[in-house]
Amino acid sequence: MTPATFTPPAILSAPLRMLVDGQWIQARDGQTQSVIDPSTGADIATESLGGAHEVDLAVKAARRAFESGPWPRMRPAERSRLLHRLADLVERHADELALLEVLNTGKPLMVARQFEVAAAIECLRYHAGWATKLNGETRQVSLPGEWHTYTLREPVGVVGLIVPWNVPLPMAVSKLAPALAAGCTAILKPAELTPLTALRLGELVLEAGFPPGVVNIVTGLGPVAGQALVEHPGVDKVSFTGSTAVGKSLLTAAAGNLKRVSLELGGKSPVFIFPDADLARAIPSAARGIFANSGQVCAAGSRLFVHKRVADQVIAGIAEAASRLKVGPGLVAGMEMGPLISERQRQRVLSYVASGLAEGARVVAGGEAAAGEGFFMQPTVLVDTTPAMRPVREEIFGPVLCTQVFGDDSLEQLAARGNDTDYGLSASIWTRDLQTAHRMARGLRAGNVRVNAPVALDFAMPFGGYKQSGWGRENGREGVEAYTELKSVAVCLD
Ligand code: NAP
Ligand code: MG
Repeated sequence: MTPATFTPPAILSAPLRMLVDGQWIQARDGQTQSVIDPSTGADIATESLGGAHEVDLAVKAARRAFESGPWPRMRPAERSRLLHRLADLVERHADELALLEVLNTGKPLMVARQFEVAAAIECLRYHAGWATKLNGETRQVSLPGEWHTYTLREPVGVVGLIVPWNVPLPMAVSKLAPALAAGCTAILKPAELTPLTALRLGELVLEAGFPPGVVNIVTGLGPVAGQALVEHPGVDKVSFTGSTAVGKSLLTAAAGNLKRVSLELGGKSPVFIFPDADLARAIPSAARGIFANSGQVCAAGSRLFVHKRVADQVIAGIAEAASRLKVGPGLVAGMEMGPLISERQRQRVLSYVASGLAEGARVVAGGEAAAGEGFFMQPTVLVDTTPAMRPVREEIFGPVLCTQVFGDDSLEQLAARGNDTDYGLSASIWTRDLQTAHRMARGLRAGNVRVNAPVALDFAMPFGGYKQSGWGRENGREGVEAYTELKSVAVCLD
């Protein structure tokens, strides 16, 4: 397997820096850490590890930009134009951004280019439109006398944006774009493992002409830089995407100034395949739904419920798809699944498989580390799993499907089986029967339900979780409004 040759992007030629107040800086205490290519385990860059000092500088810059800079006072059309300019720059540098994403995550180049970078561009353009469409409204009141009453939508202020490593560029953009459209100023903390595309995006932010301090990027460790950002009294809101455990821990840290908190957390999403489903579509889609991005997807369909009449066919079909998937470095042409992000993550995923086997599950595909220098893992299908097993209860964030067979359950019982989880992010239903589809969609306690589709991500559709999958929604009107405060104004006309 020979990777395609490529010209290393210029950003890799020097130690990485952080973006604070329009300037590129290093951490004051000089701390750094290597950035690793998970396809090879090789060092590809050195990132600066920011801490409380750099976070404080960034928050002060964002505060200045918010209180006295041009950004919140800029005409909405001008803010919209800047977001469009950034989208155009991301598009112009799409190949380079895709390459950086592949070097940092190992995912297939085609996926990085056609899904991730394309999604980032689309996200910026979608949200650019909202800058001119955020309105309050007049209200009819019944107070004595004559009144003119209305609401105003105002930016919440300085926002801290904390993101994970699975889809680094779309994650960074899906926080920045709505925050900026709403008129907020921001401090982004990328995941320590994947700072490359966020920092290249920072260069493009400056090139687009955003005023200094509007977008700041502090790289560093979660418990240090991330924690400092969440605790900082100068931050008005934190929007976090990551694990449920860290999400919960942020609530205490955010309590000091009662900052607003949005959380996009983990999932353990069910997939239901009914006997009348179009299996020619359902089988490959269920496989893609768990193996895409090596299973490192919050909305991955990780619990399959399949009807006994079609169970053998469906499970054999998914197992075959798993064994046919080409697993290898994302820069090698034809690869369909890259590595896990780190050796630590691979060990974690393997430990879930081992735990399932010890609890009585069987492997019908994969189950082991895959060959190669990097952190590769075989796409894995477990059968004979039961609701009490660890791999069925906990989010694995790896390419492991747990299957359960159903028979005479009513739709209510089936929905209850799907809902037997702490999470509530996503669910998919495969059936040709309208009643089954809509009754299941109502019965499932999940923020995102797909019928006859594995994923359906569109920036117009609110995305987020019920239960321990999070607080709030991203995308759509709701996603932008999450970066605003609502003010009521009552004017007495008597
Ligand atoms: P994570 O450990 O929770 O990290 C997410 C981010 O939070 C990283 O930037 C991390 O920094 C930072 N962080 C860690 N500890 C922190 C602390 N004490 N205070 C402030 N920030 C802190 O999650 P992960 O392992 O990177 O990502 C996998 C998880 O993300 C999975 O559970 C997955 O379901 C979830 N996820 C959810 C969605 C969604 O939209 N719902 C999307 C993708 C992923 P470091 O990089 O230094 O750890
Ligand atoms: Mg982490």
